[in-house]
Amino acid sequence: MTPRNLTILGATGTIGVNTLDVVARNPERFRVIALSGQHQIEKLAEQCRRFRPRYAVVLDADKARLLAAMLTGSGVEVLVGMEALERIAALPEVDSVMAAIVGAAGLRPALAAARAGKRVLLANKETLVMAGRFFMEAVRDHGATLLPIDSEHNAVYQSMPAGYDGDLAAHGVRRILLTASGGPFRARAIETLAAVTPEEAVAHPNWVMGRKISVDSATMMNKGLEVIEARWLFNARPDQIDVVIHPQSIIHSMVEYLDGSVLAQLSNPDMRTPIAHALAYPDRVEAGVNWLDLAAIGTLTFETPDLRRFPCLSLAYQALAAGGAATAVLNAANEEAVAAFLDHRLSYLGISETLDRVMQRLADLPATSLDDLTAADAAARSIARELIGAARA
Ligand code: NDP
Ligand code: MG
Repeated sequence: MTPRNLTILGATGTIGVNTLDVVARNPERFRVIALSGQHQIEKLAEQCRRFRPRYAVVLDADKARLLAAMLTGSGVEVLVGMEALERIAALPEVDSVMAAIVGAAGLRPALAAARAGKRVLLANKETLVMAGRFFMEAVRDHGATLLPIDSEHNAVYQSMPAGYDGDLAAHGVRRILLTASGGPFRARAIETLAAVTPEEAVAHPNWVMGRKISVDSATMMNKGLEVIEARWLFNARPDQIDVVIHPQSIIHSMVEYLDGSVLAQLSNPDMRTPIAHALAYPDRVEAGVNWLDLAAIGTLTFETPDLRRFPCLSLAYQALAAGGAATAVLNAANEEAVAAFLDHRLSYLGISETLDRVMQRLADLPATSLDDLTAADAAARSIARELIGAARA
C-alpha cells in the first residue's frame, strides 16, 4: 500500500497529538511530510525526531532558530511564518492536510490546502465560521475533498447518504441533529454562573480539549459555531439544524430522513475516532479507542438546551440569520472574550454580554471578499477589547 502523505497544521495541539497517535498505529498507511506548532517548541522538536517530517513550521523567527538548533542533524528543514504554513498545506507531494490550528489563524493555511485540491481534514471550525462561503467555493472550484474532524460533523458525514452533494431535499434529509454535552454548567444553578472561574470552565466532563474550545463548550458557543459549521459543510438552512443536549456524549450527532428514520454515529468520546475516519476514508483503521460498552453506559438521555443558560447559542443563530460578516464578527469577538476570561480580565457572563454588544455595534457589515471578512474580524476584535477594557475600569 502506498502511504498517504500528510501535513499536520497545529501538530502540538490536542487534535494534532491525537492525529499523530493514529498515524503511529498505522505506520504503513501514513507518512508525515510536514508539522507545525506555535509556542510548544520542545514538543514540536520531539514530534519531528519521532516522525521525521521534511518540514517543521513555526510562526516567529526566534522560535524557528530555537527549533532549528534542537533539530540539528535531523534532516528536518525549519520554515517560518504564515507563508510557510500555506506552503506546507499545498506541497505537491502531500495528499492530506489536517487543519488543526486553533482560531482565525487557521483560515489561510486551510484555504491554501483547499486551493491546492488536497484532502482537507478540517478541525479548525473557525475557517467555516469566518469564511464558509469562500472556503466551500475553494473546495468545489479546486476539486478538494473535505472531511470534517469535529466529532458532530464527522458523525453527520457518516450518517449522510454516500456521495452527498449538498442537496438535502434530493437525499430525503429533513434535518440535522447536533448533539451537545451541555458542558460543565448544564445543571449548575443559573444564579451562580456569575462566579464561574476559568478553571471550572475548562474542566469538561467528557472531552479533553484545548482551553479555548473548552470554554466554548461551557458557554455552548462551541455548539453555536458548530451550527454555523454545519450550515456550510452540508448546505443546510439554519432551520434544518437543531441542537439536542446529550450529556453522555456517546451519540455524536444524527441525520433525520423524511421517512422518519434517524441515523446516528456512536462511539466513546475520543477524537481519535473521527480523526481515523477522515485519515483513512473510505477505509477504516484502528484508532486505539476503547470499544463501546453500551450495557456499561446503561442510559442515554436527551434535553432541549435552555437558551437563558446558554445565550451564546442564540447569538450564533442570530449571526447566521443576519448573514454578511456577522458570523466572522461573532467568532472574532468570542476569541477576544474567551482569551480575556481565561486571563481573568472578563467574567464568565461577560463573554456573552460582550458578544451581544459587538454584534449590535457591527450589524450589516458586508462580506463580498475575504478582505471584507478580515476587516470585520479586526473591527470586532477592536470593539471587543474596548468593551472588555471598559468593563474592568
Ligand atoms: P489546541 O489549543 O490544543 O492546539 C492548537 C494548535 O494550533 C497547536 O498546535 C498550537 O501550537 C497551534 N496554534 C495556536 N495558535 C496558533 C497561531 N496563531 N498560529 C499558528 N498555530 C497556532 O487546540 P485543539 O487541538 O483543541 O483544537 C484545534 C482546532 O480543532 C480548533 O479550531 C478547535 O475548535 C477544533 N476542534 C477541536 C476539538 C478537540 O476535541 N480538541 C474538537 C473539534 C474541533 P502550540 O500548542 O505549539 O502553541
Ligand atoms: Mg465538536
